[in-house]
This record gives sequence, C-alpha cells and structure tokens, in this order.
Amino acid sequence: MEAQGSSAKAEERWQGLGVSDGFATGQVLRIHTGARSVYRATLTKEESEEEINRFREAVEETRKRLLEIRERAGREIGAEQAYIFDAHLLMLEDRSLVGAAENYIRQEGTNAEWAVRVVTDRLLIAYAQIKDDYLRERSSDVEDVTRRLLTTLGGERSLKQGLTEDSVIVAEELLPSSIAELDFARVRALISDAGGWTSHAAIIARGLGIPAIVGVRDLHRRSRTGDSIAVDAKKGEVVLHPLTVTLNEFKAKEPHRVFSNVAVEAGATEAKPARTLDGVEIALRANVELRAEYEGVRRYGAQGIGLYRSEFLWSLHNGIPSEDEQTEAYAEVVRLAGGDGATIRLFDLGGDKAGLPEAEVERNPALGLRAIRFCLQHEEVLRRQIRACLRAAATEKSVPLKIVLPMVSDITDVRRARRIIAEECERLKIAETKCGEIKTGAMIEVPSAVFTAHALAREVDFFSLGTNDLVQYILAVDRGNDNVAAWFRTLHPAVLRSIDYTLTAARVHSIPVVVCGEMASSPAYAFVLVGLGARDLSMTPSAIPRVRHMIANIDAESARRIAEECLRCDTADDAEELIRQRLSEGWPHLFSPESLPTPKSADKI
Ligand code: PEP
Ligand code: MG
Repeated sequence: MEAQGSSAKAEERWQGLGVSDGFATGQVLRIHTGARSVYRATLTKEESEEEINRFREAVEETRKRLLEIRERAGREIGAEQAYIFDAHLLMLEDRSLVGAAENYIRQEGTNAEWAVRVVTDRLLIAYAQIKDDYLRERSSDVEDVTRRLLTTLGGERSLKQGLTEDSVIVAEELLPSSIAELDFARVRALISDAGGWTSHAAIIARGLGIPAIVGVRDLHRRSRTGDSIAVDAKKGEVVLHPLTVTLNEFKAKEPHRVFSNVAVEAGATEAKPARTLDGVEIALRANVELRAEYEGVRRYGAQGIGLYRSEFLWSLHNGIPSEDEQTEAYAEVVRLAGGDGATIRLFDLGGDKAGLPEAEVERNPALGLRAIRFCLQHEEVLRRQIRACLRAAATEKSVPLKIVLPMVSDITDVRRARRIIAEECERLKIAETKCGEIKTGAMIEVPSAVFTAHALAREVDFFSLGTNDLVQYILAVDRGNDNVAAWFRTLHPAVLRSIDYTLTAARVHSIPVVVCGEMASSPAYAFVLVGLGARDLSMTPSAIPRVRHMIANIDAESARRIAEECLRCDTADDAEELIRQRLSEGWPHLFSPESLPTPKSADKI
C-alpha cells in the first residue's frame, strides 16, 4: 500500500469546474455560509457531551456578535430600531430553544446543527398556530436567530481565527460576505460545492491568482477541517487525503506564491489606452471590490476604476457602513483612481451579493429586492451612500467621480435616484459641506434596460454594461449554479445582439459605455466586444496586460467583420465555432486553443 499524505484515510477524488487556474496543497478549512442544508450526524455518548460544549460556545459567540450588532444599530439607526436585537438576545437565553437543543443532542445523539434545526422547526410550527398577529410574526426572529446560530456552528469564527498558512477553504457556497473577511495572503485555494464562472468568489480568485474550483458537489460534507488536500484548478480536480506520491506530485507544480496586501508603486505600468494596429484606442480600467486588489490598479496600468463594487463594504463593516466610513472608503478609491476617475456602483445588494440583513433573505433573490430596488426601498441607506459619494467627490478636484445605478430595469428607477441625488447635493450645500460634481450612469444588465436603451440614454450620463448579469437574465441561467453552467453562453446570439443594441443606442445619443462584466477580461471575448464597437473595457486588474496585448496585435476592422458574422449566427454553438475558427486561423500567436471557447459536447446540452 502506498504511503498516505496525512492520515490513514483513503485518497478520494472530486471533479469540479476550475474557475481560477493553479495548483495548491494544504489543509482544509471548512466554512459554512448558513443558508444551505443541515445534515444529521450520529454521535457516541462522549461525543454528545463534547457537542453540547461546542453548542454552548456557539451560543455564547452568537450572543457576543448580537451585542456588537445591537450596539452598532443603536448608534446608527436609533434605539427604537435596535430593540429587535434585544428580542434575539432573549431567545438565546430561552430554555425552549437552547435547553431543548441541548436535550435533543444528549437524548438523540446528534450534531448540534441538526438539533437546532429540529428544535426551531418545532417552535416555528407552534408559532404558526398562534392567533395573535404580533406574536405569530415573531417567528421571523426565531428564523433569524437560528440562521445566526447555524452560521456560528458552521465555523464562521474559524474563518477569522482558524486560517493557517496553508488553508484551502472548502464551502458549500462562497458568498461575497465570507470572501470579504478572508486574509488572502493565507489562502491557498478556494473550493465550493456550488458556484459558476461569474460568481463573485470566482471573479476575486481570478483577480488575485488564487486557484479556485466550484461545483464539487458534496466535498464540504465529506471533508473535515484539518484534512490534507491537493488541488489542480486547471483540470478542476480535488484530491482529499492524498497519498504521499500524489501530494508530492501536486507540490512540485505548486508555485511559490508571493502575495502582499501592500501597494507597490515601483514597477507600475503606465496607465494609457490600448491601441489596435489600425489606431483605434480602447480604454482599460479596473474593477475592484476589496483592498487586496488595489495594488493591481497601478501595477497593471489601469486607467482608473471602471467599477467599484461598494456592497463589499457591508461585509467589512458587518452591516451598513456609516456615512463617514463610506466617505473615507470612496475617497481612497478616488485617490487610487487618479485623473482617469472612478465609478462607484451604488450598493448592489441581494442576489448572491454581500451584506443583506438576514431577515431579508428572499426566496428568489436574483429577481427580488436587489440592487437599485433595495436602495430605493431603503431610502435612508441610499441617501447616506449618495452623501458619502458627493463628499468623496470633493476630496480630489482633478479626479472625476461617477455613480452607477445597479440593475436598472425601468427609467423610473433612474428618475427616482437622480431626484434623491439632487436633493442630497442641495442639502450638503445648505449645510456648507463640500460637495463635488457627480455624473450618473445606469448598469445595463437586464433585458428591459436593453430594450429601453434609447430612452434610458437620454436620462443618464453613461452606461455600464454588466455582461455577467446580462447573460444570466437574457438566457435565464443562474450565474452561480454549476448545474446550468453549460447553458451560460456568453456568445449566445441573444446576448451579442443585446450588447450591439446597447452600444448602438449609446452611440446615437453620444454617451459613453464601459463594459465591466467578466467578458471584458477574456481576450477572445474582448475581441468580440471591440468588434461590436466597445471602446471602454473594465476588468479585474490582473487581466489588463493580456487584453492590452491582444488589442495591440489585432485590427479593429477585422474584429468588426467577425463580430458582424457572429451577430448573424443562430446558436451559441455556431458563434463559438466561428470565433474558434476565425481567431485561431487569423491570430494563432494570440489565441491558443485553451483561450478560446471550448466546444460543448453534445451530451452536455
Ligand atoms: C455584471 O453583472 O456584469 C457586473 C459587472 O456586476 P456584478 O458581476 O457585480 O454583478
Ligand atoms: Mg451585475
């Protein structure tokens, strides 16, 4: 028998979808994102006693977190709103919940998560039968406390405290709120049971060069924190309990990663547009969400920040960031961007995004109270963010600051937001607070925004084309669901025609468009975008050099002809095949076979 890398457990292999290349070896750090299924585990008598201790620790930890949140809520939204957390704190002392869960663990010999689920389900049934409306509605408090307890039990604590130098994060689903908490210098790889190419975890992992695999089904359930693990993200392969020979094989390929959160001025590339062989200039900007990505902005020569995903601030601040915290964060983005300017996207909460208060998790979040809808519904949150943007815009006169409204689906969204922007600007002026000029744009990410692009273009200063969501909503394919990854087709003719229509509307009305979805960061797709007439691309900073290189070696006229051919295709297969052929024949030195869309096998679709 071959020697084992870590313990006597048998080597097990999983196959998933690699979304950020690279090899890694290390130890599993399991994290739990709270929302998904809870499994039952059977324990011995001694184990049950240990489990009760673990449960008590989780209750105490949850209590501490709730106290922090209550204090913060009291400070920021007023004591009358903070009382809700008192109810949650009381529940953590309630014997019908905590005592009953302990009894269940002891009597039934189950894990704490299962006991919490069973006990709270019983409580919820009891609440549902109560006649009094007020009391019946308290069931949402029970659900909220349950979710918090399950999250703590799942090891959210260990996310901050348990990271070792060789942690491989294993999760059911990597939510942006968990990602934002990670110290990337200590993360070797990210693996999740669910997810897709354009999930935010995947986008960030690619940007930082951390290997990542999604769609690994039940790895989370089968692994334990501390297990030895090896990862080949290019092949989408995960090996749990690798044999020594396997471990050595992976280690030999694992690069020595030097990662720092410190901005490096030296070695920065000049921030200038890319230029095609026939002289067409294409602006290349940076998408950023976390500080860890800032150093790449200068290093890779981005022309400012084309998209700042502000919702990540919610995770970092454990809820709504204050006006001063936001002003400071946006002023930092302004400084980072320099003369080319920065575009702050208003909170794009909901969907798979960060920070939504747990009570507001919805059944169908992608179609729910997301993005600008959330902002308009929570007007105080919106007004605070707008004030912070206006104040940040005044910090560096030479740096233009823009605001972009996420997931606009109706012109009324724009009108309501613009009215609030004007009112807040007026209020700041009356209060003699310095306030900068701000341009306002709309994210074009849903079919209704595309179909009304001409009218929308008359109401905004610019468009930001979010191709990640555009593909999701045009094709009705959940971008974070690996089960439907084969249907997520960026070159689908319906997607290309939507992009073409939007770019044309913007041209007719003389407003700029920045394309800021993941499509812009892949040279083959960026080629198609240039061909469709895009002249401004924003992407994860580390992608800029390869896109710049591609642009410098093609001519825009050929790209235009090929994009036109794509627009005439009937199917995504045809468009992909066309791109494979044209690019590999025309520019074999620029487009290796693996950089082109892979042919989909007939049995997959
Ligand atoms: C997009 O949808 O393409 C986009 C840029 O925004 P996000 O990926 O944050 O949804
Ligand atoms: Mg989007």
